[in-house]
Amino acid sequence: MQNFKEFGLKKELIKALDTLGYEKPTLIQQKAIKPIIDGNDIIACAQTGTGKTAAFSLPILNDMERNGNIQALILTPTRELALQINENIREYKKHLKLKSVVIYGGVKQGMQVRALQQGADILVATPGRLLDLVSQKYIDLKNITFFVLDEADNMLDMGFIHDIKKIIKLLPKQRQTLLFSATMPQEIKELANSLMHNPIEVSVAPVSSAVDTVKQSLYYVDKSKKLDLLLEVMDDKRYHSTLIFTRTKHGADKLVKKLKVNKFKVAAIHGNKSQNNRQRTLAEFKEGKINTLVATDIAARGIDIDDLAYVINYEIPNIAETYVHRIGRTGRIGRAGEAISLVDNEEKAFIKDIQKLMNKKIMVIENHSYPLKKKAIVTSKTNSQKNKSNFNKDKKSPFKTDGNKRKSRRSNYKHSKSHKH
Ligand code: AMP
Repeated sequence: MQNFKEFGLKKELIKALDTLGYEKPTLIQQKAIKPIIDGNDIIACAQTGTGKTAAFSLPILNDMERNGNIQALILTPTRELALQINENIREYKKHLKLKSVVIYGGVKQGMQVRALQQGADILVATPGRLLDLVSQKYIDLKNITFFVLDEADNMLDMGFIHDIKKIIKLLPKQRQTLLFSATMPQEIKELANSLMHNPIEVSVAPVSSAVDTVKQSLYYVDKSKKLDLLLEVMDDKRYHSTLIFTRTKHGADKLVKKLKVNKFKVAAIHGNKSQNNRQRTLAEFKEGKINTLVATDIAARGIDIDDLAYVINYEIPNIAETYVHRIGRTGRIGRAGEAISLVDNEEKAFIKDIQKLMNKKIMVIENHSYPLKKKAIVTSKTNSQKNKSNFNKDKKSPFKTDGNKRKSRRSNYKHSKSHKH
């Protein structure tokens, strides 16, 4: 399908897509929309950034008439993703008389309850708040005809499996189920089998797609010099939209303080910030009032920012898949993107795992002011050694060789040829 009209979508939806500037369906939309319209259950392997929200929302909106009962339930692991999906749905249904409501935890329930009392046709929800409002009888799920489980792998990673099972028991057996997941581990397949009958499997952009589209590089650096190096690396990037990852909330706050001292327009986004604070920060980021965002992994899930220029891994995740998720925040829908990692001695093993998962070497940037020193020098600091290591500062790091660099370039070339879009 080369354009949305060929799916037989309502003219109100086509008009909304025109306004949004969606010229042609993305690959996941080309593969999933028709089978969903035809009434099939779907199990789709697709990452955020592939256009999956429209892939499940458009057929649902196309099939629905306003009746004030919740007919579609879209379950997501994070509040940010719930808000993002609801925002997209609101755009798509702009010319239709349908009501969509979003509910999530971390804020008072009053406003959400009032919205529900006006009669929602579509409900976007995180599991905890959904069960909470169901138990208070504000929500009735017996009229559900569409059930979407989004980012199913993240749902399981975040420990939502019991909540999901409880929710499924509340749904009518006669329904259409659409499961989306960036990865398809055995657990997800088992969940899918328990949820649906003969689902159609569609798959685009395996988890490695960002690996191919995003330009990746890494700098080896002493832990104590990471901030200095970050400032050097960011020197010409500070006015571009950049997402910096830290491993901990505390680390994020600390880094924000330091960047503020250096006159960055920066804010942190993590689990200790109130929901309102997070939303305000995201809005400011989208408007360009802030251009550097420091985030932890969980907070960053579901953030959808167009034209994010850089992802910087200030700390390297110990789970290789997380790295791939992180770099996927840039280079959306074929746009250029760049991911830069600052790697200290302790994180070298993580890089090894990441490269293994990607089946690709990350380019090492050797020419910088803070090359990694040999561990022996770092641990046994006598004054004379300190001076010596300072003296050696501008020399090439002993850990890298030109041969290594050549190899990584070759491997980058090989992988860019197998780029899938
Ligand atoms: P998603 O994977 O649903 O998070 O979508 C990622 C981004 O792609 C969002 O900003 C969407 O608005 C955008 N998008 C989705 N479908 C299309 C399309 N067919 N053409 C252009 N942009 C799209």
